[in-house]
Amino acid sequence: MKHRGILTVLSGFSGSGKGTIMKELLSRRQGYALSVSATTRQPREGEVHGREYFFVSQERFQEMIRQGELLEYAQYVDNYYGTPRSYVLEQLEQGKDVILEIEIQGARKIRQQFPDALLVFVTPPSAQELLRRLSGRGTETEEVIRARMRRAVQESEGMEDYDCILVNDELDACVSQLHSLIRSWHLRTENNGDFIRQMKEELNQLQEIQ
Ligand code: ADP
Ligand code: 5GP
Repeated sequence: MKHRGILTVLSGFSGSGKGTIMKELLSRRQGYALSVSATTRQPREGEVHGREYFFVSQERFQEMIRQGELLEYAQYVDNYYGTPRSYVLEQLEQGKDVILEIEIQGARKIRQQFPDALLVFVTPPSAQELLRRLSGRGTETEEVIRARMRRAVQESEGMEDYDCILVNDELDACVSQLHSLIRSWHLRTENNGDFIRQMKEELNQLQEIQ
Protein backbone atom coordinates (compact mmCIF):
# COMPACT_ATOMS: atom_id res chain seq x y z
CA MET A 1 0.00 0.00 0.00
CA LYS A 2 1.49 3.35 -0.99
CA HIS A 3 1.36 6.02 1.70
CA ARG A 4 0.99 9.70 1.10
CA GLY A 5 3.93 11.69 2.41
CA ILE A 6 3.85 13.80 5.55
CA LEU A 7 3.70 17.56 5.20
CA THR A 8 6.01 19.25 7.70
CA VAL A 9 6.17 22.97 8.33
CA LEU A 10 9.45 24.24 9.73
CA SER A 11 9.17 27.74 11.16
CA GLY A 12 11.42 29.65 13.49
CA PHE A 13 13.12 32.96 14.09
CA SER A 14 15.26 34.25 11.27
CA GLY A 15 18.79 33.08 12.16
CA SER A 16 17.63 30.10 14.24
CA GLY A 17 19.23 27.71 11.75
CA LYS A 18 16.32 26.43 9.63
CA GLY A 19 18.26 26.58 6.36
CA THR A 20 21.28 24.87 7.91
CA ILE A 21 19.14 22.11 9.42
CA MET A 22 17.37 21.50 6.11
CA LYS A 23 20.61 21.25 4.15
CA GLU A 24 21.94 18.68 6.62
CA LEU A 25 18.75 16.65 6.66
CA LEU A 26 18.53 16.47 2.86
CA SER A 27 22.18 15.49 2.51
CA ARG A 28 21.84 12.71 5.11
CA ARG A 29 18.44 11.22 4.36
CA GLN A 30 16.43 10.05 1.37
CA GLY A 31 12.68 10.49 0.95
CA TYR A 32 12.41 14.21 1.64
CA ALA A 33 11.38 16.97 -0.73
CA LEU A 34 12.03 20.59 0.19
CA SER A 35 9.58 23.05 -1.29
CA VAL A 36 11.31 25.99 -2.96
CA SER A 37 9.37 29.21 -2.29
CA ALA A 38 8.86 32.23 -4.49
CA THR A 39 9.99 35.55 -3.04
CA THR A 40 10.25 39.20 -3.99
CA ARG A 41 13.37 39.70 -1.86
CA GLN A 42 16.78 40.16 -3.50
CA PRO A 43 19.07 37.09 -3.61
CA ARG A 44 21.84 36.99 -0.99
CA GLU A 45 25.34 36.28 -2.13
CA GLY A 46 25.59 32.62 -3.13
CA GLU A 47 21.84 32.09 -3.44
CA VAL A 48 20.72 30.52 -6.72
CA HIS A 49 17.38 31.04 -8.49
CA GLY A 50 15.41 27.79 -8.24
CA ARG A 51 17.57 26.38 -5.41
CA GLU A 52 17.08 28.65 -2.36
CA TYR A 53 14.13 30.55 -3.87
CA PHE A 54 12.44 31.49 -7.09
CA PHE A 55 13.35 35.19 -7.08
CA VAL A 56 10.48 37.01 -8.78
CA SER A 57 9.28 40.58 -9.33
CA GLN A 58 6.36 42.15 -7.44
CA GLU A 59 4.28 41.87 -10.63
CA ARG A 60 5.02 38.18 -11.13
CA PHE A 61 4.25 37.48 -7.47
CA GLN A 62 0.87 39.23 -7.74
CA GLU A 63 0.12 37.19 -10.86
CA MET A 64 0.98 33.95 -9.01
CA ILE A 65 -1.55 34.93 -6.33
CA ARG A 66 -4.22 35.74 -8.93
CA GLN A 67 -3.68 32.47 -10.80
CA GLY A 68 -3.94 30.40 -7.61
CA GLU A 69 -0.38 29.13 -8.04
CA LEU A 70 0.44 29.52 -4.34
CA LEU A 71 -0.66 27.26 -1.50
CA GLU A 72 -0.08 30.13 0.91
CA TYR A 73 1.81 33.41 0.96
CA ALA A 74 2.75 36.08 3.48
CA GLN A 75 4.55 39.36 3.84
CA TYR A 76 7.71 39.27 5.95
CA VAL A 77 9.72 42.45 6.67
CA ASP A 78 8.99 44.31 3.38
CA ASN A 79 8.96 41.27 1.08
CA TYR A 80 6.50 38.62 -0.08
CA TYR A 81 7.11 34.90 0.22
CA GLY A 82 4.88 32.08 -1.07
CA THR A 83 4.74 28.29 -1.52
CA PRO A 84 4.16 26.99 -5.07
CA ARG A 85 1.15 24.68 -4.96
CA SER A 86 1.73 22.06 -7.67
CA TYR A 87 5.16 20.83 -6.51
CA VAL A 88 3.97 20.20 -2.95
CA LEU A 89 0.83 18.30 -3.98
CA GLU A 90 2.71 16.16 -6.53
CA GLN A 91 5.46 15.20 -4.09
CA LEU A 92 3.00 14.28 -1.32
CA GLU A 93 1.05 12.14 -3.78
CA GLN A 94 4.30 10.34 -4.69
CA GLY A 95 4.85 9.50 -1.02
CA LYS A 96 7.62 12.03 -0.37
CA ASP A 97 7.80 13.80 3.00
CA VAL A 98 7.56 17.43 2.02
CA ILE A 99 9.06 20.20 4.15
CA LEU A 100 8.00 23.83 3.96
CA GLU A 101 10.39 26.30 5.55
CA ILE A 102 7.94 29.15 6.11
CA GLU A 103 7.05 31.79 8.66
CA ILE A 104 4.21 31.78 11.14
CA GLN A 105 1.34 33.34 9.13
CA GLY A 106 1.97 30.82 6.34
CA ALA A 107 2.09 27.99 8.90
CA ARG A 108 -1.38 28.95 10.11
CA LYS A 109 -2.77 28.84 6.57
CA ILE A 110 -1.20 25.40 6.03
CA ARG A 111 -2.75 24.15 9.29
CA GLN A 112 -6.20 25.14 7.97
CA GLN A 113 -5.70 23.33 4.66
CA PHE A 114 -3.78 20.33 6.02
CA PRO A 115 -4.95 19.59 9.57
CA ASP A 116 -2.66 16.53 9.75
CA ALA A 117 0.52 18.45 8.92
CA LEU A 118 3.36 18.45 11.47
CA LEU A 119 4.22 21.98 12.63
CA VAL A 120 7.72 22.39 14.10
CA PHE A 121 9.14 25.60 15.54
CA VAL A 122 12.94 25.94 15.53
CA THR A 123 14.67 28.13 18.10
CA PRO A 124 18.24 28.64 19.29
CA PRO A 125 18.85 27.93 22.98
CA SER A 126 18.66 31.65 23.90
CA ALA A 127 17.82 35.13 22.56
CA GLN A 128 21.49 36.18 22.82
CA GLU A 129 22.47 33.21 20.66
CA LEU A 130 19.83 34.23 18.10
CA LEU A 131 21.35 37.70 17.82
CA ARG A 132 24.84 36.18 17.59
CA ARG A 133 23.82 33.87 14.72
CA LEU A 134 21.89 36.53 12.85
CA SER A 135 24.82 38.97 13.06
CA GLY A 136 27.42 36.23 12.49
CA ARG A 137 25.79 35.17 9.22
CA GLY A 138 26.85 38.53 7.84
CA THR A 139 24.11 38.68 5.21
CA GLU A 140 21.95 41.52 6.57
CA THR A 141 22.47 45.15 7.45
CA GLU A 142 22.21 46.33 11.07
CA GLU A 143 18.81 47.79 10.27
CA VAL A 144 17.45 44.54 8.80
CA ILE A 145 18.85 42.58 11.77
CA ARG A 146 16.98 44.92 14.14
CA ALA A 147 13.78 44.46 12.11
CA ARG A 148 14.19 40.67 12.22
CA MET A 149 14.79 40.71 15.99
CA ARG A 150 11.60 42.77 16.40
CA ARG A 151 9.77 40.25 14.25
CA ALA A 152 11.16 37.47 16.47
CA VAL A 153 9.43 39.07 19.47
CA GLN A 154 6.10 38.93 17.60
CA GLU A 155 6.73 35.39 16.36
CA SER A 156 7.49 34.13 19.87
CA GLU A 157 3.81 34.82 20.66
CA GLY A 158 2.84 32.07 18.22
CA MET A 159 5.19 29.35 19.49
CA GLU A 160 2.40 27.61 21.41
CA ASP A 161 0.48 26.96 18.18
CA TYR A 162 3.13 24.50 16.98
CA ASP A 163 3.13 20.73 17.60
CA CYS A 164 6.81 20.65 18.61
CA ILE A 165 9.61 23.00 19.67
CA LEU A 166 13.00 22.04 18.27
CA VAL A 167 15.94 23.65 20.07
CA ASN A 168 18.82 23.99 17.62
CA ASP A 169 21.76 23.87 20.02
CA GLU A 170 23.99 21.10 18.71
CA LEU A 171 23.29 20.79 14.96
CA ASP A 172 23.73 17.00 14.57
CA ALA A 173 21.37 16.22 17.43
CA CYS A 174 18.83 18.69 16.13
CA VAL A 175 18.80 17.15 12.63
CA SER A 176 18.36 13.64 14.10
CA GLN A 177 15.50 14.87 16.27
CA LEU A 178 13.71 16.39 13.30
CA HIS A 179 14.06 13.16 11.31
CA SER A 180 12.70 11.12 14.25
CA LEU A 181 9.78 13.49 14.68
CA ILE A 182 8.73 13.08 11.06
CA ARG A 183 9.13 9.27 11.23
CA SER A 184 6.93 9.25 14.33
CA TRP A 185 4.29 11.43 12.65
CA HIS A 186 3.81 8.64 10.08
CA LEU A 187 2.54 6.44 12.93
CA ARG A 188 -0.31 8.77 13.87
CA THR A 189 -3.78 7.26 13.54
CA GLU A 190 -4.82 10.11 11.22
CA ASN A 191 -2.05 9.18 8.80
CA ASN A 192 -2.97 5.49 8.72
CA GLY A 193 -6.58 5.57 7.52
CA ASP A 194 -5.93 3.23 4.57
CA PHE A 195 -4.17 0.66 6.71
CA ILE A 196 -6.93 0.72 9.34
CA ARG A 197 -9.60 0.22 6.67
CA GLN A 198 -7.68 -2.69 5.12
CA MET A 199 -7.16 -4.37 8.49
CA LYS A 200 -10.87 -4.08 9.30
CA GLU A 201 -11.79 -5.53 5.93
CA GLU A 202 -9.42 -8.49 6.33
CA LEU A 203 -10.71 -9.22 9.82
CA ASN A 204 -14.30 -9.18 8.61
CA GLN A 205 -13.47 -11.46 5.69
CA LEU A 206 -11.75 -13.97 8.00
CA GLN A 207 -14.76 -13.88 10.31
CA GLU A 208 -17.04 -14.82 7.40
CA ILE A 209 -14.88 -17.84 6.41
CA GLN A 210 -14.81 -19.30 9.92
P1 ADP B 1 17.66 30.60 9.17
O1 ADP B 1 17.57 29.79 7.89
O2 ADP B 1 16.78 30.08 10.25
O3 ADP B 1 17.50 32.07 8.97
P2 ADP B 1 20.51 29.88 9.03
O4 ADP B 1 20.43 28.42 8.70
O5 ADP B 1 20.91 30.81 7.94
O6 ADP B 1 19.16 30.37 9.75
O7 ADP B 1 21.54 29.99 10.26
C1 ADP B 1 21.90 31.27 10.81
C2 ADP B 1 23.37 31.23 11.24
O8 ADP B 1 23.52 30.36 12.36
C3 ADP B 1 24.30 30.69 10.14
O9 ADP B 1 25.49 31.44 10.13
C4 ADP B 1 24.55 29.23 10.57
O10 ADP B 1 25.80 28.77 10.13
C5 ADP B 1 24.48 29.33 12.09
N1 ADP B 1 24.00 28.10 12.76
C6 ADP B 1 22.99 27.29 12.37
N2 ADP B 1 22.82 26.27 13.23
C7 ADP B 1 23.74 26.42 14.20
C8 ADP B 1 24.08 25.68 15.39
N3 ADP B 1 23.43 24.58 15.77
N4 ADP B 1 25.08 26.16 16.17
C9 ADP B 1 25.76 27.28 15.82
N5 ADP B 1 25.50 28.03 14.70
C10 ADP B 1 24.50 27.61 13.90
P1 5GP C 1 14.68 34.75 4.47
O1 5GP C 1 14.54 36.10 3.85
O2 5GP C 1 15.53 34.76 5.72
O3 5GP C 1 15.11 33.68 3.50
O4 5GP C 1 13.21 34.32 4.95
C1 5GP C 1 12.45 35.17 5.76
C2 5GP C 1 11.28 34.41 6.35
O5 5GP C 1 10.37 34.03 5.30
C3 5GP C 1 11.67 33.10 7.06
O6 5GP C 1 10.98 33.05 8.30
C4 5GP C 1 11.19 32.02 6.13
O7 5GP C 1 10.85 30.84 6.83
C5 5GP C 1 9.96 32.68 5.52
N1 5GP C 1 9.53 32.07 4.25
C6 5GP C 1 10.30 31.57 3.26
N2 5GP C 1 9.55 31.09 2.27
C7 5GP C 1 8.25 31.27 2.64
C8 5GP C 1 6.99 30.95 2.04
O8 5GP C 1 6.88 30.39 0.95
N3 5GP C 1 5.86 31.32 2.72
C9 5GP C 1 5.92 31.94 3.93
N4 5GP C 1 4.76 32.23 4.52
N5 5GP C 1 7.08 32.24 4.52
C10 5GP C 1 8.24 31.91 3.90
